[in-house]
Amino acid sequence: MLEELIRSWDGEQVVVGFDAPTGTWMFVCIHSTKRGPAGGGTRMKMYASPAAALEDAMRLSEAMTLKMAAADVSFGGGKAVLAVPSLPEGAERRRLLLRYGELAATLGATFQTGPDVNTTTADMDVIAERHSYVFCRSEDRGGSGDPGPSTARGVFHGIRATVSHVFGSPDLDGRVVLVQGVGDVGARLAEQLAEAGARVLIADIDPQRADAVAGRVGAEVIPPDEAIGTECDVYAPCALGGTLNAETIPSLRCRLVAGSANNQLAEREDAVRLHEAGILYAPDFVINAGGVLYSWGTESLHWDRETVETRLAGIGGTLAAIYRNSESEGITTEEAAERLALARLG
Ligand code: NAD
Repeated sequence: MLEELIRSWDGEQVVVGFDAPTGTWMFVCIHSTKRGPAGGGTRMKMYASPAAALEDAMRLSEAMTLKMAAADVSFGGGKAVLAVPSLPEGAERRRLLLRYGELAATLGATFQTGPDVNTTTADMDVIAERHSYVFCRSEDRGGSGDPGPSTARGVFHGIRATVSHVFGSPDLDGRVVLVQGVGDVGARLAEQLAEAGARVLIADIDPQRADAVAGRVGAEVIPPDEAIGTECDVYAPCALGGTLNAETIPSLRCRLVAGSANNQLAEREDAVRLHEAGILYAPDFVINAGGVLYSWGTESLHWDRETVETRLAGIGGTLAAIYRNSESEGITTEEAAERLALARLG
């Protein structure tokens, strides 16, 4: 299965490691370096099999190629997955991260990484003890810290652009926005939406977190299993991927989908299903690029805060262009976004 996956992949390189003490498979996938070194996070997760982990790493690194190209930064796409039997803590976690750092270092500048699901800024500090190309280390170690606030800012701009395309004005005053998942990104997004006058609905599987954020921003909490069927103007998935699928799309009662989650579409056909349902979809790899723009921009391209802010606002402009192309060419917004990115890949 691993052989078959690697043989049939259109990416450039796969590096495989196995950490015997923890039983962790490590996969670093370099999808494309056409536009520059491959950038992408390091994910730590339990998988059903090493092949499932490799497949995920491949898919995620392909998405990074598109994300970097759509954001128009000079990086390619890569991703690393640490397929752990259980999430390690303490000394064991540190040892695994150092071992992984050594593996990543064999790629030198070709693979430049940052945090992802289940890895943090503190983990980046450890990996950076072995690998020189690590973004989002703690600020007191000279890194750019948590990318979440910038991701949220980019999504906020993206929501305004998408609302503008549907309703003719970016004004969020009185618009009903459902934020699914109020973690690092969703909580900050909810704050900004409320400040802009939106009526914010919050759904999170962690009831205490939902209540805390709702109390702070003046939002209404809804049960997590009712998120899909709740009437709203904007559905902002900021928890997990795959929430847009053949089963959920017919139940959606929103005019547009615009949120931070990666891989929101369960399969390609879901873009068509949304299009046919008259729901405008903001392609995830375009709208959630704010974190990458901030961390890669600040640390590698030496952007100042103003440049970062301008580029975050630019996510709205990119989406507006994608919506125009989607309409004029009669294609889904996902396809229009892919075409934009692929054109930059030459
Ligand atoms: P997080 O782990 O901090 O927050 C996720 C939140 O979603 C948590 O509060 C969790 O309780 C909640 N949640 C989980 N399952 C849920 C469900 N079924 N229904 C409702 N709530 C649920 O993650 P984050 O960093 O805020 O990222 C959110 C999403 O955005 C993820 O898909 C992530 O991959 C994506 N993303 C994040 C960044 C970033 O900079 N952090 C960048 C790009 C993409």
